[in-house]
Amino acid sequence: MNLVLFGPPAAGKGTQAKRLVSDRGLIQLSTGDMLRAAKASGSDLGKKVAKIMDEGQLVSDEVVIALIEDQLDSNPEAAGFIFDGFPRTVPQAEALDVALNKRGQKVDSVIRLCVEDESIITRISKRFEEQGRSDDNPATFKKRLDAYTENTAPLLPFYSAQGKLTEVNGMADIETVAGSIARVLDNHGNGKTEKPKSFWARLFGK
Ligand code: AMP
Repeated sequence: MNLVLFGPPAAGKGTQAKRLVSDRGLIQLSTGDMLRAAKASGSDLGKKVAKIMDEGQLVSDEVVIALIEDQLDSNPEAAGFIFDGFPRTVPQAEALDVALNKRGQKVDSVIRLCVEDESIITRISKRFEEQGRSDDNPATFKKRLDAYTENTAPLLPFYSAQGKLTEVNGMADIETVAGSIARVLDNHGNGKTEKPKSFWARLFGK
């Protein structure tokens, strides 16, 4: 079972991915976590991506695809993967399809965590205060949301056309959201596809 957890920054993807790791033995692949680790280690990759991340921009497709391929190679016996924060562009989604296909696998389900604008802003302000993650500061976070709208939201029709997209209410408490995700996975994706909502457009007047 390979699952893409989809949603804007601060939608709760990381929290839910961790639940699925313990509940279902899947491996969480968070490109954000991998890139932050590279940055913290001061490796060549870390130095290369630090400025891009601090500015709230997307790291190149080539870099993140290589990170994912590396993890797929390192975990050949995995029961499945949860892709968290990846793919973020259509070329990344296409590369993921190719990478999984090469290994006789596929993306089985894409779950979109739907969260209202106001709630995202509240969550991120709280996370910034609590964790001090530099790219959660209001100016950079706005750029990350712009990147989501411009580059990542187009993945919704991509996965919807494949009949893999299911929307889940991400506004509920953690347990309830986990329950909704579990029901989708137990049905192996219910094939329910919905039109992308335009709340980002409302927020940013686009
Ligand atoms: P995240 O923790 O998923 O919000 O990611 C933090 C930052 O890492 C993003 O703002 C990007 O700069 C970078 N990043 C993480 N995943 C990707 C991805 N799939 N494609 C491009 N950049 C990414």
